[in-house]
Amino acid sequence: MLTSIAGKSVIVTGGSKGIGKGIATVFARQGAKVMIAARGQAAAEATVAEIAAAGGTAAHTCCDVADWDSVQAMVAATAEAFGGVDILCANAGIFPQVKLVDMDPEQWDSVLSTNLKSSFLCVKACIPYFEKAGKGRVVLTSSITGPVTGFPGWAHYGASKSGQLGFLKTAAMELARYGTTINAVMPGNIYTEGLQDLGEDYLKTMAASIPLKRLGAVEDIGNAALFFASDEAGYITGQQIVVDGGQILPE
Ligand code: NDP
Repeated sequence: MLTSIAGKSVIVTGGSKGIGKGIATVFARQGAKVMIAARGQAAAEATVAEIAAAGGTAAHTCCDVADWDSVQAMVAATAEAFGGVDILCANAGIFPQVKLVDMDPEQWDSVLSTNLKSSFLCVKACIPYFEKAGKGRVVLTSSITGPVTGFPGWAHYGASKSGQLGFLKTAAMELARYGTTINAVMPGNIYTEGLQDLGEDYLKTMAASIPLKRLGAVEDIGNAALFFASDEAGYITGQQIVVDGGQILPE
């Protein structure tokens, strides 16, 4: 058990579904107080109820991570509810598939705002709390798509995920003065509702092509985020870790 997590105040953006729900669940199991920040209410409330039923502590704040006012209000609400902000898991993201030839500038901007600008906004809004505490942790959810691989229809997505890693390097240098680390998890193919749309046959083929012979579980990402957020990872900053079952290893 990573003893340093119990009682900590944790924001998980996009914590209502998929990977974010996995992160929220893993942190709650360790005794953290988890604020789930997402736009929609129903899924977030269901996740809060699931965590509470398992004996954990969670709450929900409606937030659009691409909007500065909304992010500031969400971070302030977390501090008010939980007495501060110790850990930020900036995870919310969208991945609409559209080929470059059909992509309009608004679609590009929407993905870059939700996936990349949001990292900046969420980190910026948390800085006063990290500064006051003299410590903090940030974990970004990036991807292998962009920094490592490409995928047709995801040029904007890949740019946003690579951009997060560029942001990470300088942010790590600047956050160090507040005793705060920032690192990124780069998931491979993780089994979420969104992926289920690809169909069972496609997913079986995909799993067979991965050295560890399965798709990732959302908790696999939660566990990596948990490590980065722990005291035990206190000397690691500005780094990224691929969690993909060996998918990107060369043959
Ligand atoms: P899901 O679609 O399952 O969940 C996305 C979450 O983000 C939801 O909670 C959604 O809630 C929230 N969200 C989306 N837009 C916003 C917004 N503007 N403001 C606040 N919350 C928002 O996605 P995944 O779990 O699959 O992906 C999560 C992250 O993991 C993303 O950053 C994605 O790029 C990354 N990733 C996923 C992989 C995978 O295999 N699934 C692989 C690699 C990376 P709501 O819509 O209610 O706002």
